[in-house]
Amino acid sequence: MKEPLSIHNDPWECYNNIDQFGQHTLTNIEITTTHMCNMRCAHCAVGHTLTPIDPETINLSDLFAALDRVEHLNTLSITGGEPMFSKKSIKEVVTPILKYCEERNIYTQMNSNLTVPLNRYEAIGEYIDCMHISHNWGTLEEFTTVGFERMGRQPKEDAKARLFYTMIENSRALSEQGMFISAETMLNQSTIPHLEHIHQEVVKDMLCSRHEIHPMYPVDFASALTGINIEQSIAAMHKILDIRDEDIWMLFGTLPILPCNQDESSKRLLERLRTAPNVTVRNDPDGRNRLNINVFTGEVIITDFGDHEGTLNTIYNQSLNDTFNDWIKSDKARALNCHCPAVKCVGPNILVKDMYYQDVDFKKREQMMHTLNT
Ligand code: SF4
Repeated sequence: MKEPLSIHNDPWECYNNIDQFGQHTLTNIEITTTHMCNMRCAHCAVGHTLTPIDPETINLSDLFAALDRVEHLNTLSITGGEPMFSKKSIKEVVTPILKYCEERNIYTQMNSNLTVPLNRYEAIGEYIDCMHISHNWGTLEEFTTVGFERMGRQPKEDAKARLFYTMIENSRALSEQGMFISAETMLNQSTIPHLEHIHQEVVKDMLCSRHEIHPMYPVDFASALTGINIEQSIAAMHKILDIRDEDIWMLFGTLPILPCNQDESSKRLLERLRTAPNVTVRNDPDGRNRLNINVFTGEVIITDFGDHEGTLNTIYNQSLNDTFNDWIKSDKARALNCHCPAVKCVGPNILVKDMYYQDVDFKKREQMMHTLNT
């Protein structure tokens, strides 16, 4: 039996491995099951990979054999594209992977835009521990423009609007059926003016179990988008803490504000996040406990670092554990992987460091933190 997700049980928190194994360990796999999607969001991190049809997949028995060898596998995420877009992919790829997880008692997450017909989600609902969606839509117009910005032939306006209402209704219906739905909102210039409205929609209309807040980092396809500076990020997080519904779990991730920052505004925000009820701050899993596998090629990458690190290997050339351990031992990972046990922090991820802390030596900060805490 799996313990339900809660502020006390977040299986995607990579610090769990430090507690359990004393080091970063491969426990988390993400599988890209499709490159097809019915939307083309401006901010999509994999927008450059989307295609009208999918190629043939690798043999799933090869995939499962590779996963079998990941002894401590605890969480698995299914991502795309839109994993529920193609009925063929749901039947031949998504469902077998979910059943594999069920047999191994692995926590599952699906990253979906929740805009496809409800019965497709209901059919796999029993296997899903977390349905993860993006909600960055302050207005309907934002959805119908930004959500399709990179689409060549645009659907009609009312067809696009229908997808928005489907997302809201699907979330509500699935939540009422007991599914754990986590809506993620990125902090950027477009969402900040609408944070209160988005939060209310997530809580009251969509009945989500969790609202996630992540600052936006321009990466890959989304590299042209305008991010925000640290001061704007801090102000936006205070704002959402001011207006939020305290009955819903708020998860803050990929934070650009680190416990070793010595300025007062960083310290004030982190203290507020630490003491606020029903709030958690998650260390980023990418590069710490997670690898992504492409189901069409068997290629293995670090999620979100695709344009930084490229393909690390394939499941045919090297075991996933060895690929992960090689990455952890690499100069790049070592430069990023500082660790301060007193604050349970394992350092910034590569996107945070590149955007805000290019000249900072985190090994020096680590020493400073150890001195402060001894
Ligand atoms: S682990 Fe790294 S980023 Fe986190 S507080 Fe320590 S030195 Fe700073």
